[in-house]
Amino acid sequence: MVGAGGIGCELIKTLVLSGFRHIHAVDMDTIETSNLNRQFLFRRHHVGRSKAAVAAEAVLAMRPDVSVVSDQSDITGPHADVDFFRSFSVVLSGLDNLRARRHVNRMCLAAKTPLVESGTAGYLGQVSVHLGEGRTECFECQPKPLPKTFPVCTIRSTPDKPIHCIVWAKEVLFPRLFARQVPGYEEDDDVAEGGAGIETGDVDEHGETGRAHGKASKSSASIYAPLVDETPSQYAARVFDQVFGADVARLEVLARAAWEAGGAPRRALAPLFLDSLAGVRDQVKKAGTRQTRNADERSGSLSARRELDVADAHAVWSVEQAAAVFLLGLELFLSRRAEEVGQLSFDKDDELAMDVVAAAANLRAASFGIPQLSRFEVQGMAGNIVHAIATTNATVAGLIVLEATKIIAAGGETRGNPAGQPTKPSASSPLNATHTTFVRADVSNNKLLTPMASPPPNPTCAVCGKAMLELRVDPDVFTVGDLVEKVLKSQLAMLSPTIEAEDFLYEEGEGLEADEVAFYKLCLRKTLREVPGTNAAYRVLELSDQQQQLSARMYVHLEEGFRSEDKTYEFVGGKLEQPLGKPEEPVEREKEEEVRGQEPASSSDIVVEEEDGEEHDSGDDLVVVSSTMEDLAGPNAEPMGGKRELDEAPDENERKRARA
Ligand SMILES: [Zn+2]
Repeated sequence: MVGAGGIGCELIKTLVLSGFRHIHAVDMDTIETSNLNRQFLFRRHHVGRSKAAVAAEAVLAMRPDVSVVSDQSDITGPHADVDFFRSFSVVLSGLDNLRARRHVNRMCLAAKTPLVESGTAGYLGQVSVHLGEGRTECFECQPKPLPKTFPVCTIRSTPDKPIHCIVWAKEVLFPRLFARQVPGYEEDDDVAEGGAGIETGDVDEHGETGRAHGKASKSSASIYAPLVDETPSQYAARVFDQVFGADVARLEVLARAAWEAGGAPRRALAPLFLDSLAGVRDQVKKAGTRQTRNADERSGSLSARRELDVADAHAVWSVEQAAAVFLLGLELFLSRRAEEVGQLSFDKDDELAMDVVAAAANLRAASFGIPQLSRFEVQGMAGNIVHAIATTNATVAGLIVLEATKIIAAGGETRGNPAGQPTKPSASSPLNATHTTFVRADVSNNKLLTPMASPPPNPTCAVCGKAMLELRVDPDVFTVGDLVEKVLKSQLAMLSPTIEAEDFLYEEGEGLEADEVAFYKLCLRKTLREVPGTNAAYRVLELSDQQQQLSARMYVHLEEGFRSEDKTYEFVGGKLEQPLGKPEEPVEREKEEEVRGQEPASSSDIVVEEEDGEEHDSGDDLVVVSSTMEDLAGPNAEPMGGKRELDEAPDENERKRARA
């Protein structure tokens, strides 16, 4: 089993109690406090220890006669090769991120080991069986929604939704204030993976790339370093005037110039300077004095909003209140948590960090004429995760064990005959009875579970089928590096791609000499036009990933000046192979069955979005949910508000789907 978290804890317990005797549990993570409310094998004194190890200990206490190997390692690492996957009768996946799930799918296909996949998101869940060898669909036969990301320029210069301001406060401002470094969007793919992130390397409205932008900001990062002899309150005031005043004023000048040059109509920005916010300094000073008197309070429970008497998480702060929370928050960090400043990472359950981010997001929203939100709403969106529900995890774990039992009961039938040829299961084989099951929020027909026979493979799947992938690019701008990062790694989940074309080779991964690495690094700068090829209109690339034993062909249309939503490329995905040179129009994806619309990819793939339903109407697969917090039973829970949101969310979703 892969993953010993929310689903994994339930799964390993149900496995041993169902009679499974040989279990290998893999999870690279350690236990965190925020896991304790739903991962019931873990206790407070386990915090910091390996999830796999503690889960194994817990079930061995229930059934000392079973054999459980715990393995704290990364399932996408090179040691987990095809032989490793082949050594198991079945792989059970309870992973929380799409990249690892896609990797496990490919490894199981290569090893011919059956896979039972699972995911949950709030009240929704799903378990599917992937037998490989053309007997059922693979995990990637149906496209999975990618995490929602935002272009850098929207976040930095042209926000028009609350979520843009929250991403800015959390991903741009917070690291500069407290991690003392400019986040490397172009290097750090985690930023985009968690859901609401910032798209890397996009061209912004000034024609600068994200990379250039990032470099330019590095020189201005010094404004976030405290000056010699500067008190915490002087520092906070200076940063405030810079970030919400001078920076916004500068954007206003640029925006006005763009408008005068014939740009789109726009609303004027309103820079905020402390001198124009009456009474804020006095308020902060008073609260700061009070805070000093309570200096023996634990630093972990520091809160700016409580000291300022604006603690109600469901109220929307005025601009003055938000300014005061921001200033006091900064002061408290510098005076009371000074040892953490410089190496702090955002945690939505960190009271003071959340105060600062909520205040900053609302101040920015006020400047840009965007509606402000309550701290509770900001926390839900900043946490960027659909609340996990232990009951859904337990239900899904039970379904995994049911499917695993069928596969084990089929014995040797799962692997084809000794010659390695796929065999059709016999008429009486339990393999004919495997199911994909959806756990649904809709109880109108009194059925929480919707099973369907495991679907056959999708012939246009590029992973298990023989599909040709398709990409459209502006050949003079789009580079091999863009292809590797934005398409092969980010969209196709490859780990170490190899690209071959006529007289062209790009490789990465282990086993390369230093001069080869240097040579391939130079290759990344080539535009697609510069990749050798005989036809001016297209390139055909052979793609492969050694570790995943994956290979695919990609047809790249070279279209001068190509743009799609401001991007210089569009990844069309897989389709049936066409005779070269005369590609047909992409096959329009068939409307998925109604039940598929419910399919949650995993909690981390789903973004907490505003309730305007816009994402859903645009036709993509994002589930729109109202903002709530993940850790409802945690120490910082807001039981009343949380409960209300939880009860409403599924109905709201159902209503939106019906409307859509
Ligand atoms: Zn497939």
